[in-house]
Amino acid sequence: SSRASAVLSALDIPTTPTELPGVYDGEWKGSGDLLQSVCPATGEVLADVKSASPAELHGALERTREAYIYFRSIPAPRRGDIIRQIREALAAKRDELGALVSLEMGKIRTEGVGEVQEFVDICDYAVGLSRTMNGRVINSERPGHTILEGESDRFRFILAHPCCPVPNPLGVLGVLSAFNFPVAVYGWNLAISMAAGNATIWKPSPTTPLCSIAVTKIVSGVLEKNNVPGAVAGLVTGGKDVGEALTQSRDVDMVSFTGSENVGRIVGKSVQSRFGKVLLELGGNNAAIVMPDADLSLAVPAVFFGSVGTAGQRCTSTRRLYLHRAIAPEFLSRLRTLYASPALRPGDPLDPRTLLGPLHSRAALDIFDNAIAELKAADAHILVGAGQDGGRYEDLPAPLDRGHFVRPTIAAPRSKPGPTSALWTTERFAPVLYVAEFDELEEAIEWNNAVPQGLSSSLWTRDVRHVGKWIGPAGSDAGIVNVNVGTSGAEIGAAFGGNKSTGWGRESGGDAWKQYVRWSACTINFSDEAPLAQGVNFTP
Ligand code: NAD
Repeated sequence: SSRASAVLSALDIPTTPTELPGVYDGEWKGSGDLLQSVCPATGEVLADVKSASPAELHGALERTREAYIYFRSIPAPRRGDIIRQIREALAAKRDELGALVSLEMGKIRTEGVGEVQEFVDICDYAVGLSRTMNGRVINSERPGHTILEGESDRFRFILAHPCCPVPNPLGVLGVLSAFNFPVAVYGWNLAISMAAGNATIWKPSPTTPLCSIAVTKIVSGVLEKNNVPGAVAGLVTGGKDVGEALTQSRDVDMVSFTGSENVGRIVGKSVQSRFGKVLLELGGNNAAIVMPDADLSLAVPAVFFGSVGTAGQRCTSTRRLYLHRAIAPEFLSRLRTLYASPALRPGDPLDPRTLLGPLHSRAALDIFDNAIAELKAADAHILVGAGQDGGRYEDLPAPLDRGHFVRPTIAAPRSKPGPTSALWTTERFAPVLYVAEFDELEEAIEWNNAVPQGLSSSLWTRDVRHVGKWIGPAGSDAGIVNVNVGTSGAEIGAAFGGNKSTGWGRESGGDAWKQYVRWSACTINFSDEAPLAQGVNFTP
């Protein structure tokens, strides 16, 4: 359609021929299985992408290793300058790339553009890191000795600059990403990985290949201009097979995986079994707790965005809502008003007025349908959304009638939240919000923690004593513990990630960069004696 061609041509993606090469390792190629890119709002086939054959994957891994050997010797601040140029190139295409995210993934325009902005932001952060990724100098218990934590093999360099050890690059980073953030998750990884001096190879979701091609074109353009091998930021599109091959390859020093708990469990074991490094960003089952003293004019819209935004397909989406009994009727009545708002009708995600985009795929529809069937089988009270129609819109105009639109749903299960109820403990990656009422904060915190996942959590209160409990040792056990801020979304400045079955990984800001480098403790003896530590005497 002209709508799709306008978005694609603005990003230099040809619309004819319709089969595009989906592998980049310095050159574009692809002769593996065809991946189909489909617009989830209209069902239109956008392109077929030729994924990586096993031989192409093997070749790409070789190019990536060569690129790493080149890139690790570039001084970090110079690497930072290249990241700065990538930032500029991305910012120049922010709206166009954001539109492609909406077209291919299905999230609404403002969120698509926001996702590209996140990549821009993390580039800024990584430019700064390129001048501040330092190790430490540690006091030694032995006279005339210095311990440098960070540097490992450039001893002469250290002796010339004894106060300035730097952590070393790690090698090749493999990034496996999910469909719901087809740009930002790669951005978080690539920017930090480049600052660290690694080469990165990306296996995106098989249903968002065009986003990965567009991003790789922008990044490789900058690399070429700087005479840096393109395989510093390589791309291998493909499905499970390509993912498995990357995971198992000893040429990949670290795997950064974002996706479901089920696949993460396989990936984690596989990388661990070869003693590779692995970073896991898995499912979330995030709760918001609302106390009677909360400011409802802030809390209600935040829960609304958290549960309906991105059609419930964020890892940080609000899935569980725990309301204090005193405010529950008032809160739900206000929330229902927002759910019933005429602005919340299905629309083209590219139209700036649209608030409700489609689910991403048929598989995503199945997840929603199963969640509703399970609620009905458990005789849950459906407060809003999936009624007799099963949550589908029957009367949408063409071409949206072929889109994967569903009614955002609120349900009150009969079973009490707790570790044994599958309704409460499983992530349903769809716009379904599960509600329960509590009497004491302690009970709500117990429910918050009584799930395997530990990504995001949010408490709404004006009472500082509640805040103390919530962020303390008996508080929320999630990786993101918010107060008067919803569960959904995050800034790049803080390390992002979750605990427990969310995988314990941390990406983006904070100290996350420390995982992308190789650490060494180097004790250097500047003296004419060679004493053993702890006073051990080994003189014959
Ligand atoms: P998914 O697990 O189905 O797929 C993720 C990636 O793994 C894809 O690239 C896929 O091709 C690949 N893959 C599939 N099988 C594989 C295997 N056996 N070996 C190696 N790779 C394999 O996830 P999805 O449906 O694309 O994304 C939704 C999930 O991602 C949700 O659970 C969501 O919570 C999670 N997610 C988490 C975060 C986070 O930061 N914690 C962010 C976004 C999404």
